[in-house]
Amino acid sequence: MADNKLYDILGVNRNAGENEIKKQYRKLAKEFHPDKNPDAGDRFKEISFAYEVLSDPKKRATYDRYGLQGMQEGAQDFGGEDFLSHIFGGGLFGGFSPFGGPMGGMRQRRQRTEDTVHTLKVSLEDLYNGKTSKLQLSKNVICKKCNGKGSKNGNVVKCNTCRGCGIKTTLRHIGPGFAQQSQSTCPDCHGSGEYIKDSDRCSSCKGKKVNSETKILEVHIDKGMKENQKIFFRGEGDQMPDVEAGDVVIVLQQKPHEKFVRDGDNLRMEHTVTLTEALCGFSFVVKHLDGRDLVVTHPVGSVLKPGDIKTVENEGMPQYKNPFQKGNLNIMFKITFPENHFADEQGYALLEKYLPPRPAYNMPIGDNVEEVDLNDYDPNERRNNSNHRGESYASDDEEAHGPGIQCAQQ
Ligand SMILES: [Zn+2]
Ligand SMILES: [Zn+2]
Repeated sequence: MADNKLYDILGVNRNAGENEIKKQYRKLAKEFHPDKNPDAGDRFKEISFAYEVLSDPKKRATYDRYGLQGMQEGAQDFGGEDFLSHIFGGGLFGGFSPFGGPMGGMRQRRQRTEDTVHTLKVSLEDLYNGKTSKLQLSKNVICKKCNGKGSKNGNVVKCNTCRGCGIKTTLRHIGPGFAQQSQSTCPDCHGSGEYIKDSDRCSSCKGKKVNSETKILEVHIDKGMKENQKIFFRGEGDQMPDVEAGDVVIVLQQKPHEKFVRDGDNLRMEHTVTLTEALCGFSFVVKHLDGRDLVVTHPVGSVLKPGDIKTVENEGMPQYKNPFQKGNLNIMFKITFPENHFADEQGYALLEKYLPPRPAYNMPIGDNVEEVDLNDYDPNERRNNSNHRGESYASDDEEAHGPGIQCAQQ
């Protein structure tokens, strides 16, 4: 499918000579150089690309014969990787590279199979102590019966749909002279570019060239590894003939722990003590992730306040690759207060003897003093009251003010 696009870009005739092409290129390159003409977008890249092809007799001949699309399809036997990536890589022809992204996918397909990604749920204990997990997964391996040929007798023909390139190309015209090309794996040959007749197919892999096998991987979880950390098994991914196998990638996912929360290398936990403990000191036991019992003591004499955070040094998570170095354990304290009437009169008096003295208030006396009750706060009731008041203010100013003033004067 020949086209004239590159000639159009340089503004030369299809049979223009070498010199003419060079002259025209220099002129346009000057005019559209990004330094001089920053608004020209990718014009400069297009010009450079057109010149690169048309100034090379071999590339030009291929282009003349097959056009841009043909060059892409024949790229395998054409000029190797460099030329390819230059043509099809990196957003040439403005934002809608006609051969952009998908081409990268094709190259990847030719070189390596896709990585197999698994998540592995691990406990915080596993991340603290380290662990070896066995993970069973299935992967494609090259069929041993046909050695990945897919055919029992070697009879293989080029796929008709994709003409052997393994990719189905769809062109969509999106502007004068330009078309966007979208590519997908050829549905008929599943990207292999080959077609094997039913009667020729290998009996083991049915022509697929690979068989699925179950494999057990030993995953070493090192001390201090973190959520979302990746463990790679190079080359353990799916196999495909003539292609390097991709990796198996294990992504760690930490299950929530009932007591500890991880903050980087630190651990955080909450602990609730009684008011007695908060005032008079206390000890309690923390079962650590390695099974040790940490006896945590807050000595008599130091008072714990609500919201206090205390640190136990070096009892956090081990550092990855440096597990003898550990973070801290931070404990946030909550305090429960005793219930109403927890003591008798004597008890309260005794307590008061030891607690700091009350502040001395001078209570006012006279007509301007009113004694009020302290009730439990009810957020709903309060909202209703204010609504009610708001309405009466709005509906009748005088009436709303009336009672308030009267009350104050009583
Ligand atoms: Zn095909
Ligand atoms: Zn086979």
